[in-house]
Amino acid sequence: MTSTPDDHGFGPDPIVVMKFGGTSVADPSAIRRVAEIVQAAAESESRPVLVTSAMSKVTDALFDMVTRSAAGHVRGAQDVLDGMLARHRTASAELLDEPARCEFDALLEEASRNLTELMRVVSRHPGTRLALQDEIVGQGEHLASHLLALALRAKGLPCIWVDARQVIRTDDQHARAIPLQEEIVSAAQRLLMPRIEEGQIPVLGGFIGSTLQGATTTLGRGGSDFSGALVGAALRAREIQIWTDVSGFLTADPHVVPQAHTIPQLSYAEAAELAYFGARVLHPQTIKPAVALGVPVRICYSREPDAAGTTIDGRRVVSAQGIKAIACKRGITVVQVTAARMLGAYGFLRDLFEVFARHRTAVDIVATSEVSVSLTVDDASAMPGIKADLSTLGEVHAQEGYAIVCVVGEGLRNTVGIAGRIFGALSETDIALISQGASSTNLTFVVWEKDVSDVVTRLHECFFEAEAQPGSPAKVAP
Ligand code: ADP
Ligand code: ASP
Ligand code: MG
Repeated sequence: MTSTPDDHGFGPDPIVVMKFGGTSVADPSAIRRVAEIVQAAAESESRPVLVTSAMSKVTDALFDMVTRSAAGHVRGAQDVLDGMLARHRTASAELLDEPARCEFDALLEEASRNLTELMRVVSRHPGTRLALQDEIVGQGEHLASHLLALALRAKGLPCIWVDARQVIRTDDQHARAIPLQEEIVSAAQRLLMPRIEEGQIPVLGGFIGSTLQGATTTLGRGGSDFSGALVGAALRAREIQIWTDVSGFLTADPHVVPQAHTIPQLSYAEAAELAYFGARVLHPQTIKPAVALGVPVRICYSREPDAAGTTIDGRRVVSAQGIKAIACKRGITVVQVTAARMLGAYGFLRDLFEVFARHRTAVDIVATSEVSVSLTVDDASAMPGIKADLSTLGEVHAQEGYAIVCVVGEGLRNTVGIAGRIFGALSETDIALISQGASSTNLTFVVWEKDVSDVVTRLHECFFEAEAQPGSPAKVAP
């Protein structure tokens, strides 16, 4: 599998980072499929590095345990913990032989002791919740990465578990930590490269990292994709593969539009916009490390490993219909600040954005008029403080219950008539805000959340269902 330049003069086989999502490691049959996929990669003259999510729904269960503990419901939290551990135990009994099963059982015992203790602390001192939450929710990836490494070894693959916390070094913002690029590159070169050169296949948990002081952090929900991209960039991989439960990046969320198509290729800019505006198939930060080094990202379907999936790379291809996909993001709050002649007032917008920065709240869409500014946020948890601070600038109104719809395509800005087609298809819809022109690849607008499925369905019909499409029909795991 591995080779050195001396073997044949062409240099070592390229590294491929393969990230497996929760459904791809959900149960023993899924893990057996992963073993076949990795086996095929190892035989095809690439050197795989694996990054795995927690088994599906395990992270939800761990968050549930945190919530129950903080509310003082330790018994309920313990029941959730027992169920989660039992699921791992059943999978290991099916996948592992005696010595490996004992090794994994010992890890489950350790996880059980640690989690019980952490839940006890959170229940007694709810103020510790944020600091300890990452330690708790990160256990899903910790266990899944051990299980995957052992299960793949049982199939004869030279896998070796590597502690992701030693590689993905981050700042100390719990629950949404920011990676420290240079430290990650040096840790990957130090901890992963020698293993890869020895012919081993490193297996890491996604989502988790640690501060330079050693405290566990996480990269935000869905963050294992980001881990995969960080590792891929640090190792200068030939490709970052995101193995998931759909046949690729699709023209729309298949749970909203079952007629969605698989898109053969997207540019980095298109994928980044779609991911940011709600296409959950890719964590919004995944593209950043890949684009910096021009590493292609490929979305692959775990149930059909030979299908082409979607390649995301630096090619900026304009499609015949002018758009490639539609994404939507629910749970949006629109904030409006009204003040007499505010735009004439020097520094007004700076003061306004400083309020959001101070409350660490990202603003997505902004529209201004002479007397008011409207903007959207998806995290309204700091809204009481934001409203209080904004009230010194003008009259403030915040309204929940909106969704952002984002239509994306290279060349969208230069394709005549696209906006007309979009808004023509939505002539009956109440549209709260529109943003076009900030990026040449995207047109974004805000509608009531209750209307969003209907809006995306109508746009999909208008752009993708009238004539034959280049991509194949979407496939979704049952
Ligand atoms: P994983 O557990 O493999 O990381 P996720 O659940 O995070 O998988 O992401 C895959 C899901 O993303 C799909 O099941 C689908 O419902 C959703 N999704 C939303 N928009 C899109 C899109 N445009 N293309 C593909 N999947 C999408
Ligand atoms: N397990 C984490 C989550 O569910 C990270 C991931 O799956 O990407 O959010
Ligand atoms: Mg995901």
